[in-house]
Amino acid sequence: MGKVLIIGAGGVGTVVATKMAGLPEVFTEIMLASRTKSKCDAIAEKIGGNKIKTAKVDADNVPELVELIKSFGPDLLVNVALPYQDLHIMDACLEAGVSYLDTANYEPLDEAKYEYKWQWAYQDKFKKAGLTAILGCGFDPGVTSVFTAYAAKHHFDEIHYLDIVDCNGGDHGKAFATNFNPEINIREVTQKGKYWQDGQWVESEPHEIHKPLTYPNIGSRESYLIYHEELESLVKNFPTLKRARFWMTFGQEYLTHLRVIQNIGMAGIKPILYEGKEIVPIQFLKAVLPDPGELGENYTGGTSIGCRIRGIKDGVERTYYVYNNCSHQVAYEETGAQGVSYTTGVPATIGAMMYLQGLWKKPGVFNVEEFNPDPFMEQLNKLGLPWVEEFNVDLEL
Ligand code: NDP
Repeated sequence: MGKVLIIGAGGVGTVVATKMAGLPEVFTEIMLASRTKSKCDAIAEKIGGNKIKTAKVDADNVPELVELIKSFGPDLLVNVALPYQDLHIMDACLEAGVSYLDTANYEPLDEAKYEYKWQWAYQDKFKKAGLTAILGCGFDPGVTSVFTAYAAKHHFDEIHYLDIVDCNGGDHGKAFATNFNPEINIREVTQKGKYWQDGQWVESEPHEIHKPLTYPNIGSRESYLIYHEELESLVKNFPTLKRARFWMTFGQEYLTHLRVIQNIGMAGIKPILYEGKEIVPIQFLKAVLPDPGELGENYTGGTSIGCRIRGIKDGVERTYYVYNNCSHQVAYEETGAQGVSYTTGVPATIGAMMYLQGLWKKPGVFNVEEFNPDPFMEQLNKLGLPWVEEFNVDLEL
């Protein structure tokens, strides 16, 4: 059905390549390209059967990327490199005439901002070129956005209160490790909290607002209000929302490590001079922390991520909870990657499938909740991320 070029050979790239290789009727030709080619080769070799071509590319070098795109000629580029590359990759897509999909919004290297404004500014360019850009097609953002669109379409006349709840109830046995790229992860969880209430953003100190929430098959976990990027597009696309918040669970050990890392300056994103050489503290920290891609083997437990929604249907208030639970061990056995990479890579694969099947294809730049959620929801059940719905439940929020 179509050719796809994947950029980025980390934990998420591993899952995307593995899943796509298992769907040859959809992904007829696959190339995996990244900064370090040996990582692509190792993934391709593990998948076997010469199913994946590999290449070396620096995605921040637009002419180099354009050349690679033109020589391979994909229908779609799937960006699972880092958020810093998003705009360069979008530029290359426009120049080479190929559609685009990613899982995380653009971030400038020297500022952790989490705003869609830079990517939304590409709207006219993609429209004019007749190309599609699908933004934020991982789990959160991604599945949580599709869950919200599905709820709004099928179960509510108006959604009023949205709480996205993200629990990692797993144990990797390390004193401290992050579940995806440490630099991106630490930047995200150490910023101020922010949520939408009555038409405006309300800010809180980092980890200031928290409460225990109960997660299916996991139990009660302390959950912290943090800002997460999908809130920005969801409140825009669902203007009936009176309040939208995002909660993530953290263990006490994790928070203690995080506090120390911050207090001693290791979470810094501005370069410092060390022995005559500029280094960025958080990048150095990344080099000494466990590689998230290696956590899978002994990872027990799993994730539970979902949307808790309150709104109106036929004039009556109702509550609704839709979620997926994903086992780290099952994810590892299937793909060699842990649950957080799996829950990101599977939705990216499904988004790419939606595009190639012509179901999510229109000129312009879109967040995933702007497409029809139904075929995507159907594929989640088939491709390893089954979801559960509950009605009229105590949302605890
Ligand atoms: P990793 O750090 O494991 O992998 C990133 C990959 O991108 C590496 O292979 C890296 O190459 C490559 N890369 C970095 N810079 C460049 C460049 N300039 N040119 C080419 N390749 C480059 O990250 P993850 O796999 O954990 O995460 C991938 C993406 O998924 C991130 O953007 C992350 O924010 C996002 N994500 C989204 C989630 C969601 O639910 N929406 C959840 C989790 C992650 P090298 O090996 O040489 O360093």
